[in-house]
Amino acid sequence: MKILICTDLEGISGVCVWEQTRDRTSALYQDARRLLMGDIAAAVEGCLEGGAEDIIVSDGHGGGFNIAPEMMHPRARYFTGRNRRPLSSWAEMYQGVDGAILLGYHAMAGTSDGILRHTQSSLGGNRYWYNGRECGEIAQSALLYGHYGIPIVMVTGDTAAVREARAFLGEEIVTVAVKQSFGEEFGLLLSPEAAHEAIRVGAREAIARCGACQPFTMDLPIQGRLRLGDKVRADAHQPRRARRVDDCTYEAVFDSALEIYEF
Ligand SMILES: [Zn+2]
Repeated sequence: MKILICTDLEGISGVCVWEQTRDRTSALYQDARRLLMGDIAAAVEGCLEGGAEDIIVSDGHGGGFNIAPEMMHPRARYFTGRNRRPLSSWAEMYQGVDGAILLGYHAMAGTSDGILRHTQSSLGGNRYWYNGRECGEIAQSALLYGHYGIPIVMVTGDTAAVREARAFLGEEIVTVAVKQSFGEEFGLLLSPEAAHEAIRVGAREAIARCGACQPFTMDLPIQGRLRLGDKVRADAHQPRRARRVDDCTYEAVFDSALEIYEF
């Protein structure tokens, strides 16, 4: 069995302020990287216990260069680096994957209680709708993997992120909340050790559910809408092919889930 672990940083155990996720020169970001590696190791352990033979980690936060190599679990391989491959090449990269784990994800922009909640841009205030339903990064990632027939089998993050995951992906998936959100940069956190135990047990269970979880898809074509945080940002926005419908909003029609970022 081949499992993909897709990582973000904002929902990793022990991460709760923006400073841990933005400035790569800050000591707090270095802490966050170590915390990320701890959650990854726990997820890999759980996958192995569940019977996974091939485990690929995909480094997803920011530009996608967050992994501390010396801390990577020896049984996992990982995608990282700069200039990520286009979405159209994911079929080749993720060939034969039976299920994906979204590790360290966060709630969408506008969520009242999500720690570090945002959608794509943590500074721009971006909000995305597809076929009239507002989506955050959990649904966006699920749509992309769903295009390739890969189901999401587990999501970790704060209580708001896992609530959002279940609303989109159903009750079959495993969710692990490693912190309870009480505000944008404030929450009640598990210790990393306790979080790792919950992630390990969850990942083991998630492997058993690969067959029960369905790939996440939407009716095509997808009617897309992107709202920028303010008019200045919308003026500066260079859409690839969307049309502007008001001061802050762009709309586009997508024939494939692979196009959902092409505003
Ligand atoms: Zn992120």
